[in-house]
Amino acid sequence: EEHPLSPLVVMMPSPGMGHLIPLTEFAKRLVLHHNLSVTFIIPTDAPPSKAQTTVLRSLPSAISYIFLPPITLSDLPPDTKTEPLISLTVLRSLPSLRHALLSFNGTVTAFVVDLFGTDAFDVANELNIPFYLYFTSTAMVLSFCMYLPLLDQNVQCEFVDLSEPVCMLGCVPVHGKDLVDPVQDRSNDAYKWFLHHSGRFNLAHGIILNSFQELEPGAIKELQKQEPGNPPVYPVGPLVNMDLAQTGSHECLSWLDGKPRGSVVFVCFGSGGTLSSAQMDELATGLEKSEQNFLWVVKSPNDEIANASYFTADSLANPFDFLPKGFVERTEGRGLMVSSWAPQAQVLSHGSIGGFLTHCGWNSILESLVNGVPLVAWPLYAEQKMNAVLVSEDVKVALRPKVGENGLVGREEIASVVKRLMEGEEGNKLCHQMKELKDVAAKILSENGSSTKLISDLALKWKGKTTTLTN
Ligand code: UDP
Repeated sequence: EEHPLSPLVVMMPSPGMGHLIPLTEFAKRLVLHHNLSVTFIIPTDAPPSKAQTTVLRSLPSAISYIFLPPITLSDLPPDTKTEPLISLTVLRSLPSLRHALLSFNGTVTAFVVDLFGTDAFDVANELNIPFYLYFTSTAMVLSFCMYLPLLDQNVQCEFVDLSEPVCMLGCVPVHGKDLVDPVQDRSNDAYKWFLHHSGRFNLAHGIILNSFQELEPGAIKELQKQEPGNPPVYPVGPLVNMDLAQTGSHECLSWLDGKPRGSVVFVCFGSGGTLSSAQMDELATGLEKSEQNFLWVVKSPNDEIANASYFTADSLANPFDFLPKGFVERTEGRGLMVSSWAPQAQVLSHGSIGGFLTHCGWNSILESLVNGVPLVAWPLYAEQKMNAVLVSEDVKVALRPKVGENGLVGREEIASVVKRLMEGEEGNKLCHQMKELKDVAAKILSENGSSTKLISDLALKWKGKTTTLTN
């Protein structure tokens, strides 16, 4: 029975499955272990996608959700990038967000947004609701964001033209070309929006981070040094979907049942990632040449942009029409193609999976980590290149294929990197390292683990009780 004034946490994911999914994982811990209620308030520009509703409908009953009335983006130029589209969806939804927050009659004890939702801080502030940032990526990217306002002032040229890599405290150096997408062209609106949000992170009452000390010790230590005016940082990760019973069955899971342990490479570019037709051809041929078993989530190619399905997650055309001629027949038994969307968390926890060729979305990396599955790092957009640097050069759980002069990853390179991951000594090493991280993750997520404690801490705060653990 619910008290009408029981504390409510409101979360507002900005558009994108990579924002919604991690917030739901955080919400689940709050409602299942701490008796809080959570409501998702979701800004959109279109009816909910299948992927969104599948995720939302699987949530425990103490988590409810409302879609705000869709706003329109039709006045924006057709080449508008993802970051302005996401940010403007939030900005234009603020009046209806305010209305929704007011309807809860003062029961909201915390308001949580992701990195593109910082404009909603003003609404929460006006209504006297403590507001938090849930950072859905790495400590390394968070450090970059915190550093960006200064970098913006001190550097005049494009970051890609810097002669030295950019050094964030406690992180491996990153070349300009590997920095997050929206800073690659400083004259684009995407840059202005990214800078805008980054500059507002400091306003938050706290920054909740889906990473953990043992994975990014240097960066997290620096972030937690309490400079005056910096919010406390709570590394609560790795929070990914581990309760997979409710997701149901899928043909690809029974296919995996028939394959030997650790013998299948899973190939998936996240919810939004798309390849060009030429690149898709190379990938198909490369997988064929690798002689490994593979499970590939195929999306229709797009020759213009790398995140063509970002706002929908569903492929428009039948993606199988774009595979090379005879490919399906030639790889039968060894390869399985799934159209558009697979139950990834479940797939990665299947014993037959031995490697993951990923676009390096942070959720994908964490899902692989908690299952001890090593990676081929194939970044496409957003902050994925920085994530690829982290997992291949710093944490050393991934191989990163070389991009050829024509901008494509060639078939030979793909075949070789997949083979090295699945068969070689090198692959064994990465696998071993990933298994160690899996064990650490299990420990910090257990009852007395550090991540569990930090979540309790926040939950207590949000229930109106105080704690000595944090300030
Ligand atoms: N996902 C999935 N099936 C797919 C593709 C993606 O379940 O076919 C899930 C994946 O498990 C992850 C999320 O969608 O939880 C994608 O988040 P990520 O940060 O990896 O990448 P993004 O989609 O934001 O680029």
